[in-house]
Amino acid sequence: MRKLAFGYSTRCNIRCEHCVAVGDIPDNRKMDTARAKEIIVEMARIGVKGISFSAGEPFLYFTEILALVKLCKQMGIYTRIVTNSFWAKTPEVSDTFVAALKENGLCQLRLSYSKWHQKHVHQNNVVNAAGSCQRLGLNYFVSFVTDFSIEDDPHELFLRNHGLKFFPEPVIYAGRAASFKPRTILTDYQANCCDMNPYLTPDLDMYACCDAGSHFSKTHFFHLGNLKDTGIEQLFTKTETNRLYNLIRTMGITTIASFAGMKAREITTHSKCELCKKLFNSPETLARLQAEVSRLEAWTR
Ligand code: SF4
Ligand code: SF4
Repeated sequence: MRKLAFGYSTRCNIRCEHCVAVGDIPDNRKMDTARAKEIIVEMARIGVKGISFSAGEPFLYFTEILALVKLCKQMGIYTRIVTNSFWAKTPEVSDTFVAALKENGLCQLRLSYSKWHQKHVHQNNVVNAAGSCQRLGLNYFVSFVTDFSIEDDPHELFLRNHGLKFFPEPVIYAGRAASFKPRTILTDYQANCCDMNPYLTPDLDMYACCDAGSHFSKTHFFHLGNLKDTGIEQLFTKTETNRLYNLIRTMGITTIASFAGMKAREITTHSKCELCKKLFNSPETLARLQAEVSRLEAWTR
């Protein structure tokens, strides 16, 4: 199913220390609204079934985002908005926003929560936003971004104590978090497959990965092209037919790392995106994997 993270604007009202949505892409860009609508209509035509409005803080352009959500609804596209909940200051105010979202056809609200977000937004805002969703019947979940350190325990407890539906999500060491000291992890030898939903920036660049993919500055491995000179269908086809992307989806990054020569013991000390960066943001390793992609595809049990 074709899905996309839609970066209508990279502007945000807060400055989280861990923000991955900064770096190579300027943080004050906004898409032209008329162009955004054309893109949505075109995406519906080529079979896109889900759009997540993310990037900066979508609620900074609430009226415009509502119009885009409404258009998606008319086009049969599932919609999600990712927000830091700054707007949910009281249950009453929060109800007003959520009622408007529901009326315009939003399918799901994803509430970001972490020790970094909550330095700027009161944690009760997330409770208010979730409460409005529950009262008004809008699907929601809390995305609990964590580095799995002990300091995150009270935050996890807060979410539990308020009965919120939450899912822990590892912080990505890119953007502002690139300067964080990566934790030492020792996981099982897990596959590390990735769905790889594309990400569209306000400047109409499209990347094959919506998370850390725009930060691979040495190889631009995930950059698919720009809608100013390439059609949307062509960019989707590019991400669906690239052999290495497909191996990330199906084989997983762990096996690719082993194939590329990394020791199993070392592989288990890296997070998925770190491993991915080691392989695909290295011009030499990428060139080798591209040259040996047929042998890699046959590297099965
Ligand atoms: S993580 Fe989200 S809320 Fe925080 S600065 Fe980045 S875009 Fe804004
Ligand atoms: S592992 Fe690679 S493809 Fe998957 S989210 Fe991280 S950077 Fe993107």
